[in-house]
Amino acid sequence: MKIVNSIKELKQNLALEKQENKLIGFVPTMGALHEGHLSLVKHCVKENDVCVVSIFVNPTQFNDKHDLETYPRTLEKDCALLEPTGCKYVFAPTAEEMYPEPDTRTFDFGTVSQVMEGAKRPGHFNGVAQIVSKLFYAVEPDNAYFGEKDFQQIAVIRAMVKQLNIPVKINACPIVREADGLALSSRNTRLTPELRQKAPLIARTLKESTTFAPDKNVREVIDYVVNTINKDSDMEVEYYEIVDGNTLESINDWSDADYIVGCITVYCGEVRLIDNIRYK
Ligand code: AMP
Repeated sequence: MKIVNSIKELKQNLALEKQENKLIGFVPTMGALHEGHLSLVKHCVKENDVCVVSIFVNPTQFNDKHDLETYPRTLEKDCALLEPTGCKYVFAPTAEEMYPEPDTRTFDFGTVSQVMEGAKRPGHFNGVAQIVSKLFYAVEPDNAYFGEKDFQQIAVIRAMVKQLNIPVKINACPIVREADGLALSSRNTRLTPELRQKAPLIARTLKESTTFAPDKNVREVIDYVVNTINKDSDMEVEYYEIVDGNTLESINDWSDADYIVGCITVYCGEVRLIDNIRYK
């Protein structure tokens, strides 16, 4: 496994691989790797000849300065986790390398980037599109892998590659969870032991809600999820929306779409956790 820090060196290495017609797979991450990330890497290694993983805490996608400053940075440990996976290149650039000049591009992907996370974290998806497009230009992968934990992010990335004509296949991988249901996240390390005990309530409630979803109407299911979680004084639902999984538009009735997903964000103490569940 090779660790490269510059786009130039990365491109030189990958040019040689591409000369041999190797299929290039790519997993973009912000590091602090856990089994969720590693599941994407496993898919990538299996389905490609060469796996590239990037580790870069992208400043332009953080709308909260405190969140950026406290985001865990564990490059050495991350590389140790990647070494046995079959990942061939770790791309770990500096901010100066990725942003030699401020990126002034603003994107408009319509609804998929405006609702939910788009509304609650202004500028977040614009920053995501900036960095992921730059990474795609650097790696020029055949396949890229993203986790369904960030459900809306996948829709934004799909819209972006379409809009920019970037020839890459976007592959979505299922959410990896702890045994108690909590979706793995780099931010989970910020939970106090007490909050860590409470956090699985989110996944538990979402799962429970799928059991009576067809019988209760959409509004009742939303209210059930929000009220159940908010009953705990340490938890506060920021939003819970049940949407068409393709357009991300809210639905009013279970017959409104064939593919339906509920997306939630909850403050567990100070820690902002996201999760989602498929109803249909
Ligand atoms: P991040 O480092 O948080 O930007 O995440 C990098 C990639 O890993 C994104 O595509 C995430 O959706 C994915 N990811 C993060 N957590 C999980 C998880 N628990 N299960 C599956 N994928 C995940």
